[in-house]
Amino acid sequence: MAETPRLRLGLQKKGRLSEDSEDLIKACGIRYGRSALRLTTSAYNFPLDLFFLRDDDIPRYVADGTVDLGIVGENLVAEEDPEVEVVEPLGFSKCRLSIAVPRDRPYNGPQDLANKRIATSYPTIVRKFLAAHGISARIHEISGSVEIAPTIGLTDAICDLVSTGSTLLGNGLREVEVVMKSQAVLIAHPNLSAEKRQVLADFRFRVQSVLTAKNYKYIMLNAPDSALEEILACLPGLKRPTVVPLGETGWCSFQSVVEENDFWGVVERLRTAGATGILVMPIEKMIA
Ligand code: AMP
Repeated sequence: MAETPRLRLGLQKKGRLSEDSEDLIKACGIRYGRSALRLTTSAYNFPLDLFFLRDDDIPRYVADGTVDLGIVGENLVAEEDPEVEVVEPLGFSKCRLSIAVPRDRPYNGPQDLANKRIATSYPTIVRKFLAAHGISARIHEISGSVEIAPTIGLTDAICDLVSTGSTLLGNGLREVEVVMKSQAVLIAHPNLSAEKRQVLADFRFRVQSVLTAKNYKYIMLNAPDSALEEILACLPGLKRPTVVPLGETGWCSFQSVVEENDFWGVVERLRTAGATGILVMPIEKMIA
C-alpha cells in the first residue's frame, strides 16, 4: 500500500501570525517538538512537516511548490498575487490596510490623493486602489516604519496595516480610507497530488472543527416544566436542545449550543423565560 505523503506547511517564524498559527495547529491535536534553532520540525501524530519562514517568502514558496501549504496574511496574497489557492480564512490576525494622512490635513475623498506622495509596503494594492478611483499619485515603496514617512517629509500620506490604530495615533496620522480588510488565511499549492489533497482535506476538516467551535458556547440551564416551550424557542441548538428531567419534580435541565454573536441576547431571553443555574462552557472542537 502506498505511504501517506507528508504535507509541508510554511508558517511565520516570528511575528504577528506565528503564535496564533502554532496555537491553531496544536488545537487541531497535531503534536510536534520544536527547538529554538531548528527552522523545521515534523509532527509525530499527523503527516505534516512545519517550516518556520519569513512571512514575505511564504506565498512564493507555496506558488512554486517548495512547500505545499502556508499560513499568511491575506494582505500578502493580495500584494504578491501568487498562483496559490486560498483554502480557508483562519479568523486571526484581523487588520485592515488603510490610507492615513496627517491629522491636521483636510481629506474629502480619494481625489485628495491626486498627485500626492504615498509611502507603503504594498505598492501593487495601492496602485490598484488609485486606478480604481482614476487617480494618479506617486508611490514610495518602503519596507518598514511606514508611519514615519509624513513626519520626516518623505510623503503626504501612507498606506499600511492597521490593527488597533495606536501606531497611527502615535504618529499624528488619521485613517481616511480602508483599502482592504485582511486576516490570516491557509493557502495551498494549486497542483497538489490527489494523495496530498486527501491529507489536506483531513487537515482542513480539523481546522474547520476548531474554528467553528470558537463561534459557539455550550450552555446548560434549569427551568420549570411550565417554561419548556418558551425556553425551547430561545435555544436553536444544532438540532433541538437536549431536555432531561431534573431530580426535582416539575423541573428540567436543558443543554444546547449558542452562537457567540448571539450569546448575551439569548441569555437575557432565557432569564426572562424563567431559566436558572445557567452554565456556559467553551467548546474545544465542533463537528457538525
Ligand atoms: P496598530 O498600532 O495595532 O494599529 O498596529 C499597526 C502596526 O502593526 C503597523 O506598523 C502595521 O504594519 C503592523 N500590523 C498591524 N496589524 C498587522 C498584521 N495583522 N500583520 C502584520 N503587521 C501588522
